[in-house]
Amino acid sequence: MASTTSSILVTGASRGIGRAIALRFAREGWSIVGVARKQSELDALGAEVRALGASYRAIALDVADGAAVATALRDVDVDVLVNNAGAGILKPFVDLTAEEWHQMVDVNVNALFHVTRAVLPGMMARNSGHVCTIGSIGGRSVFAGGTCYGATKAFVTAWAENLMIEVRERGVKVSVVMPGAVATEFSGHTVREQDQWKLKPDDVAEAVARVVLTPPNVLIHRLEVRTLTVPASGRGQSR
Ligand code: NDP
Repeated sequence: MASTTSSILVTGASRGIGRAIALRFAREGWSIVGVARKQSELDALGAEVRALGASYRAIALDVADGAAVATALRDVDVDVLVNNAGAGILKPFVDLTAEEWHQMVDVNVNALFHVTRAVLPGMMARNSGHVCTIGSIGGRSVFAGGTCYGATKAFVTAWAENLMIEVRERGVKVSVVMPGAVATEFSGHTVREQDQWKLKPDDVAEAVARVVLTPPNVLIHRLEVRTLTVPASGRGQSR
């Protein structure tokens, strides 16, 4: 008998927001496919997912490597893809190295092609599916140090809206969830007491769940998620 369990593939599932999304859907009873580079962190997630009673598959993969993605995801059919893996090196444009620039473009932009291209045809063939990508408030508001990162997140918004128009009549939903600041280790950050004001990874996971768990004919295409507890130093800024 065919399984009726829904399935979700989350890139960048090993830490931060992606990990919270994987666990949120595991609690929902979904089957989880976790993608990231570090096998050990994917395995740690797997233990938590299975403890919740959900099934789990880890795929250790660099999403920026197009050939590796095509091979690894060849046989993967999922109901929902969350493009969450991201890289952020936030510094003045003149201090960015070519390698840092390319890393952000490769992970935040080019990987959208590699991963979505691998999974979307199956969704279109089934006339059902959902591609949800984690953008950023930084993709529509400017900040010093964000020339490349902010531009890659602006790309996410434009790409997703164009894709939405192409595939919604095939029953496939396309969404962007755009968080403000989230307390994670993103960009080499160490989470500390002074990060209390930021969104938690679980807050973003809940927003993704709200976007994905909609009635069949309802599409939430774009969602911004913000905190109410902006510190004095950040008041008047878009975060
Ligand atoms: P983290 O740094 O905590 O987690 C990033 C995840 O992406 C890790 O699981 C990492 O695993 C994975 N990853 C990074 N590069 C690759 C790669 N080349 N191939 C496969 N996996 C990769 O970041 P966050 O959870 O904070 O960020 C998740 C998303 O949310 C990103 O797209 C980010 O831009 C966005 N975002 C974050 C905000 C924040 O304030 N934190 C605010 C707004 C948006 P591994 O290293 O093992 O590969």
